[in-house]
Amino acid sequence: MTEAAEAGPERHRVFFALWPDEATRSAMSRATRAAVQASGGRPIAKDRLHLTVAFLGELTAAGVAAARSVPPIEIGAFELTLDAIGIWPESRVLWLAPRSLPAPLEALEAQLWERLAAHGLEAEDRGYRPHITLARRARPVEAEVVPVQWRVEELALVESFPDGRSVYYEVLERWPLAGAE
Ligand code: ATP
Ligand code: MG
Repeated sequence: MTEAAEAGPERHRVFFALWPDEATRSAMSRATRAAVQASGGRPIAKDRLHLTVAFLGELTAAGVAAARSVPPIEIGAFELTLDAIGIWPESRVLWLAPRSLPAPLEALEAQLWERLAAHGLEAEDRGYRPHITLARRARPVEAEVVPVQWRVEELALVESFPDGRSVYYEVLERWPLAGAE
């Protein structure tokens, strides 16, 4: 590390995500195992499966505090049906996703960014494509998926720690989704 980097403020790589419970993780893992194997890709461990809602990037401690102050969001718990499996050829990411973007998830993402903007945080201008990364360096696969029903009941703020070729995540805080019910 250079002296300049050492002298700079410490950064935290954080994102808002939907963090599945144990039963949902198992269901995701079971439903996608064959496709992951067929893709020949490097699987994401079951305990790291997640759906990113808003990626904030490298924040200072003050930025993390601002992000923590944003929830609760006025969205109730909702059902997410994960019924599509596919690959992005550019990134060679194999993913599990909802075929259509459910309104509550769209609203959650929009409200988060609306409130984050008040803290000077902005989304990258590349559109929101909600997905769960299943494997990296995957080959295209023709896969049907038995739909996974996910009852989404909370929002999480997560920190990402690069760990060699892999990554480690730590949930910093969770908020129940209960607002609109
Ligand atoms: P790695 O990049 O080390 O392979 P990762 O992508 O899981 O692992 P991060 O890059 O820290 O780890 O990303 C954390 C989460 O945020 C992941 O779900 C990732 O897909 C998502 N993410 C990363 N960068 C962006 C971005 N620029 N825009 C939207 N989402 C992003
Ligand atoms: Mg990444």
